[in-house]
This record gives sequence, structure tokens and C-alpha cells, in this order.
Amino acid sequence: MLDSEIKNLRHPAEIPLFIICLLVSIFIYITLMTIPILYPEELGVEYVLVVPIAIAFLSFVSGQTYGGMMANAIKLSEKQFPELYEIIKRLSSELNLNEVPDAFLIQEGGLINAFATRLYFRRNYVVFYADVVEVAYMEGDFDSLEFIVAHEMAHIKAGHVTLLYNLSIFPIAFVPVLKNLLWTALSRAREYTSDRIAIRLAPSGKKGLIVLSAGEHLYRDVNYEEYLETARTPEGFWIWSTNLLSTHPALVRRVKAINENMPGRIF
Ligand SMILES: [Zn+2]
Repeated sequence: MLDSEIKNLRHPAEIPLFIICLLVSIFIYITLMTIPILYPEELGVEYVLVVPIAIAFLSFVSGQTYGGMMANAIKLSEKQFPELYEIIKRLSSELNLNEVPDAFLIQEGGLINAFATRLYFRRNYVVFYADVVEVAYMEGDFDSLEFIVAHEMAHIKAGHVTLLYNLSIFPIAFVPVLKNLLWTALSRAREYTSDRIAIRLAPSGKKGLIVLSAGEHLYRDVNYEEYLETARTPEGFWIWSTNLLSTHPALVRRVKAINENMPGRIF
């Protein structure tokens, strides 16, 4: 997939929201680094260490997350869940990634999730919770799993997982109101972006999103057309507010967006 295609598929609100988040973050970083120096009496000069400590902390968490996978998860390869690894390799090639990311399978007590991240400056990797992978290995539905894999790989391609990216918006997550107005909004835009890239790569995997609602077995019995009808009905206040406070768009909005090939509503 060409970079120009990625550019077209990126949610139109993502870059503007990122720029606003970046500017606010720079302001917070500069404030945190200058106020302790300018006013050491009011605020101890040691507060100048807040930013380096935040960077060290993020790097540590990043290392711990990767270490946790290496220690407890199943590392995928040509000999370990080869069908899933093959999808990861193929999508890496289709997305023109520099390298095939490491990939892990881990059971998390029935949670249905997957994520892509990066070991600070070193390497990207994707993690799939076991129940997600069961969609393919127990239900025989590799199309839906492929959509989920493609969504995670899209996060890597779109630049969402780098340490620099995350540091550049990190402080906003700690500012109440701004977090809900900007930080989660940007996160929702990123999710739409990844969905849009994923459905282009795995057009038969639309039901992959329904797995998040109905689970890795019952999703097959969900009446998709009826679900879409629900998604088309006008939203009330509670869906709106749930969406506003969440890092992921309301699922009905995501399903509607990929079906109508529309960017999806952020607010
Ligand atoms: Zn995502």
C-alpha cells in the first residue's frame, strides 16, 4: 500500500488533532522545565526533573511490557501458529513495513483484545489475546482475524506506536478536561484510521469488529444486517457521552464507518 493511499485513508481529523495535542504538550513540557528554574522559591528546582523522569518512566514501562511478552507469551513464527504468522508477514509486505514486527499470543483470562506497540527505540511488535486468535483457530474464520491483524499493523504503518509520537502527546493524558477533549479524541481518530486501512487490506473481515461485542464464538450468530440497522438509528446522549470519554469510538460508529466507507464521527 502506497503512502499516498495511507494519507487518503487517514481520518481527516487525525492530523489536526495531533497538531493541537502536540502544541499543548510542548507548552506543558516547556512550562514544566522553565517554571522550576524561573521560580525556584515557589516551586522546587527539582521539579525540572519531571520531564526526564516521565521519559525514563515511559521507556521503562515500554521495556517491561515487551519483557512480559518475552517471558510469558507465545512468540509467533513460521513454526508457531504459522497461518497467523503468514498473515502478519503478508500484511507487512502489503503495508511496505521495513520489517516484520515481532508478534505474540497471550491468554488474558477471556479478554478480547490486541494491540500494537514499540519497544522504545528498537522494534515494533503486535500482541494478540488468545480469545481473538480463537476466531480463526476454533471458528475457522481467518477473514475476521485478518481484519484484526490488519488493524494493529495499520497502527504501526500510520506511525501511532513510536515513542516519539507518544511522548509528544503524553502530558495531555494527565490534564482532566483536555484529556477528554483532545487526547481521547485523537485516540478515536487513530482507531478510525486503522479501521479504514484494515478494511482496505481485509475487505472480507468486517465481522472482526463484532467479535469485540459478542465474543469469539457468538459473534458468528450476530445478525449483521440487524446490527447495522441499530447502528443507523439516531444516537442518544448516553452513547454520545460514552464515546466522548473513551479512547475508542463507540463500536456501532466503527461498524457504521467501515460499512459506509465514511471517516466516522469523533465527537
Ligand atoms: Zn486500534
